[in-house]
Amino acid sequence: PFEKSKGQHILKNPMLVDSIVQKSGIKPTDVVLEIGPGTGNLTKKLLECAKSVVAVELDPRMVLELNRRFQGTPYATRLKVIQGDVLKCDLPYFDICVANIPYQISSPLTFKLLSHRPAFRCAVIMYQREFAMRLVANPGDSLYCRLSVNTQLLARVSHLLKVGRNNFRPPPKVDSSVVRIEPRRPLPPVSFKEWDGLVRLCFNRKNKTLGSIFKQKSLLALLEKNYKTLQSLRLSGNPEAIGEENEIVSEDVTVLANMVDDISMIDGERENGDEDEEMETDSSNNLTSFKEKVMGVLQQGDFSDKRASKLTQVDFLYLLSLFNKSGIHFS
Ligand code: SAM
Repeated sequence: PFEKSKGQHILKNPMLVDSIVQKSGIKPTDVVLEIGPGTGNLTKKLLECAKSVVAVELDPRMVLELNRRFQGTPYATRLKVIQGDVLKCDLPYFDICVANIPYQISSPLTFKLLSHRPAFRCAVIMYQREFAMRLVANPGDSLYCRLSVNTQLLARVSHLLKVGRNNFRPPPKVDSSVVRIEPRRPLPPVSFKEWDGLVRLCFNRKNKTLGSIFKQKSLLALLEKNYKTLQSLRLSGNPEAIGEENEIVSEDVTVLANMVDDISMIDGERENGDEDEEMETDSSNNLTSFKEKVMGVLQQGDFSDKRASKLTQVDFLYLLSLFNKSGIHFS
């Protein structure tokens, strides 16, 4: 009866369900958002401690079963079930999100939640173990990647519980972990498009030095093109020219929702291609002087010999501000 394509793995261990609900710190005044309630094992415990629960479920059969389960109980009036794809529907107001989600939507869902306004207080979510470890990874950890850096820009994340596959029916092929996500307030004053643009470049080869990454001809050409477009827009007085240092564009967090979901693609370190393709000495003067500009920025912040795998949030923010000050942008 359970559909693999919808990631249907029902939590069958009541102690674990209790523990998740307890760790989420729900208050009697809270509106809780649940994603993928399935047959309602978690929903029931949420209803016991929250003011109300809004549950978004894709599978109409599950929606029927859920409504049937609570029909005629005191919970019925405090539960609202929305049938649909959580990635496509407008989310209602909520204080807390608690969910055992289908793992295939982990990344877009996380960024959809983080771009929701007003910001929620906290989310307690079950993820595939490796995805969870990437979310919480710190600089220097082997799983530290673009996903870690982008998530941690927007939220504090912490690992709460390891969950073995046998707590589910049917058991999935992977182990799981419960993670707590608390949106940062206020958000760092940075354009997320630019932030992700820079972070993506740096993590494309996360173990290479920034010096060697920014020496690549194709990358420099792209950055220079962007640089020139912005310069001429600004000279012509076009108000849409971006780059008034670090703009505060908290609303466009949604760009991060387009991040790939396939874990193997998250930091997609490229093994081949234009590896270490450096500038040729006889290339145009223009590009050479732009290269010097870029190298100058890296040196200024002492970044030339640093690697993305070791850079902190503060390092990335500083690096981005140095580039922006020189008129170099990443979106
Ligand atoms: N919460 C239940 C539990 O813990 O026992 C079931 C969790 S199960 C891992 C995931 C649930 O999400 C399934 O009921 C599935 O039908 C639902 N689902 C899958 N894709 C969805 C989507 N895009 N939007 C909303 N629900 C979805």
